Amino acid sequence: MGIVVQKYGGSSVADADGIKRVAQRIVNTKKQGHEVVVVVSAMGDTTDDLRDLAEQVTPLPPPRELDMLLTAGERISMALLAMAVSSLGHEAQSFTGSQAGVITDSVHGKAKIIDITPGRIKSAIDEGHVAIVAGFQGVSQDTKDVTTLGRGASDTTAVALAAALGAEVCEIYTDVAGVFTADPRIVPAARKLDRVSHEEMLEMAASGAKILHLRCVEYARRYDVPIHVRTSFDTIEGTWILPDTADTEGDTVEQAIIAGVAHDRSEAKITVVGVPDKVGEAARIFEVLAGSEVNIDMVVQNVSAAATARTDISFTLPREDGQNAMAALAKIQDEVGYDKLLFDDRVGKVSLIGAGMRSHPGITAKFFASLAAAGVNIEMISTSEIRISVIVDEGQIDTAVRATHTAFDLDADEVEAVVYGGTGR
Ligand code: ADP
Ligand code: ASP
Ligand code: MG
Repeated sequence: MGIVVQKYGGSSVADADGIKRVAQRIVNTKKQGHEVVVVVSAMGDTTDDLRDLAEQVTPLPPPRELDMLLTAGERISMALLAMAVSSLGHEAQSFTGSQAGVITDSVHGKAKIIDITPGRIKSAIDEGHVAIVAGFQGVSQDTKDVTTLGRGASDTTAVALAAALGAEVCEIYTDVAGVFTADPRIVPAARKLDRVSHEEMLEMAASGAKILHLRCVEYARRYDVPIHVRTSFDTIEGTWILPDTADTEGDTVEQAIIAGVAHDRSEAKITVVGVPDKVGEAARIFEVLAGSEVNIDMVVQNVSAAATARTDISFTLPREDGQNAMAALAKIQDEVGYDKLLFDDRVGKVSLIGAGMRSHPGITAKFFASLAAAGVNIEMISTSEIRISVIVDEGQIDTAVRATHTAFDLDADEVEAVVYGGTGR
């Protein structure tokens, strides 16, 4: 039997009892004959608590030191978990991201993995030990500093390790039973999906469904790693994330047009007001943002007013990049000659995702009609082949998600969406 990589999220190891329960599960897998590599997140809301603590010390902590602080969370859980596995009579060794060979670039807070050299992990499992790796962290190739891979990125550590080790499966253990048609915390009538294709899961993750980190799905697709998302609080089967092959598209009778509804509370909107309508202005604005490592999501440019030959450009971006982006844009105000900048972080994004959309007309109309009937105003719109997203007022996100879920007949007859733990933070 081959290597199994298991990732346990913060809610699964929230306290000593949780750690012991997870240890038992690891040992059971080992007893079935598998070599087990575990990736673990920080306990409960530790990462948020550490962040809050840093902000109490200084409003803008130096990114290098923030990474040093946050990676401590996973060091605590990995060592405790190794102790718990040992106490069950099985050898276990914990490793930091750096020790596990997770090599990254040097962008603190959202470093990208550039290589994995899991020599020590391989030796540990070859010797029959359980290897336990701290999630969401690595070491920069250039600076040799400790880096973090972005919030929720333990999933990515797990899938990247699974790819590097040639694991047969990467199991992601969390506080809900799998991937549902919407976040079960908002839609109790959400249904668990048995299988989701890579392309749909990529769109869901990119649209804010934090059940899986976006980059872990990209990895899984590129290196063909099967992901099984399931709960550590029960033994039931979860959701398989599989290639976009006949396996996921085959049973077209069963296949719903819509896979699910996702929402995102982490975005903000910036409007650059009064941009002169000249060649190259938009390029200049977005070059500056790219230079500041700001990821842009939606962009809307209004038709320019004939009288002024000026236009407004609005875009959305991660809220946490807001200050950075505003500062970068302020520096080019004279050069570009725009009037002013507006910042709005009271927005949210709601997205409808489904590969079946390609061949079914009328989805957009139905989506917008359901929002209208629920009294939700649409501020921005963007689409891909298999996704429609809207920006709405933050206070209307839940209403919009529920209305859309119902309008597309996704509600389950009987409630199956159990939230086993976690605070949803
Ligand atoms: P972990 O700490 O285990 O990584 P996360 O909090 O990152 O867990 O992700 C699990 C959470 O994702 C669930 O508790 C749920 O609130 C949320 N979620 C959002 N969208 C979905 C979805 N479509 N299906 C299941 N869970 C979802
Ligand atoms: N502990 C990190 C976070 O809360 C990484 C993770 O859990 O995936 O973002
Ligand atoms: Mg997560």
